[in-house]
Amino acid sequence: MRMPVVLASVFAVGLSIGTIAAEPTPTDAARGPAAAPSSKAGEASQPAKLLFSKKGLPSIGKAMAIGFYPRGCLQGGVELPVTGPTWQVMRVSRNRNWGHPELVKFLERFAPRASKATGWHGILVGDMAQPRGGPLPFGHTSHQIGLDVDIWFMPMPGHVLSKDERENTSAINLVSDDWKHINPTTFTQAHIAFIRTAAEQPEVERVLVNAAIKKEICHMQGANHPSWMDKLRPWYGHNDHIHVRLKCPPDSRNCRHQEPVPKDAGCGKELDYWFSDKVLHPKIETGKPAKPPRPLMLADLPPGCKGVLDAPAKQVHQSNVN
Ligand SMILES: [Zn+2]
Repeated sequence: MRMPVVLASVFAVGLSIGTIAAEPTPTDAARGPAAAPSSKAGEASQPAKLLFSKKGLPSIGKAMAIGFYPRGCLQGGVELPVTGPTWQVMRVSRNRNWGHPELVKFLERFAPRASKATGWHGILVGDMAQPRGGPLPFGHTSHQIGLDVDIWFMPMPGHVLSKDERENTSAINLVSDDWKHINPTTFTQAHIAFIRTAAEQPEVERVLVNAAIKKEICHMQGANHPSWMDKLRPWYGHNDHIHVRLKCPPDSRNCRHQEPVPKDAGCGKELDYWFSDKVLHPKIETGKPAKPPRPLMLADLPPGCKGVLDAPAKQVHQSNVN
């Protein structure tokens, strides 16, 4: 049975960290030196997600987020080490633990703060960006300029995870099956502390969570709406992780700022939309297969992205797991 478009996108985001088996993963070769630059004709005719996912290493050059979160690329990306004192990277085989240095620095600061606020050993980091950013072959429309990161609702265990554990552990779902409420058996006070700590960081532009989680936090806060709640935005999926988006770094001049979040906690009527039939039970148009959107081509990205794609690889020592 065909999934309705909106639900399909819920699943696309919802499944982005939960399952891996059915999704293609970069091969080990993708983590090695970058392939030779492809020919001009080849670049023009292939979706940009294929070109960027082939690059196993970042480009040389000053670190710069180029373009917009769902349409851009990353120059001079840096890697978040896969194991830190208070974080571990999940799904390492995807080779998406890259970002603008500001994102890596943010995670290195945020992980110990979140650990302290929650009592967890640390955080589990999901997808960031590919080594050169750009569109991804599966899982996300954003995460393209090295300023987005998914962080799991599951506390980091007290041991260093094996390769297998990082590939196969499923995230914790905080939302009930009807997508209207939180799941009281998985949702804890520590999750609220975790979300609040992320939204309180000044470099954070917004934090995306499922609407049921936003609704619960609105409910628990009552009339008291501290300003961090403005940054907490409801979005499809995000039932097993938060998505943290950083502001454009000041020296990334070609990074496009997102419209600032409204100065409002967003706990009123606007939240109702997310629980409407339109979102939760979209109509299925029978007999009309939904057309997948046209994939982004290199020409759709900012001009600087061609240079990023074709640039020599930066020589880096990558961290790894056993
Ligand atoms: Zn995300």
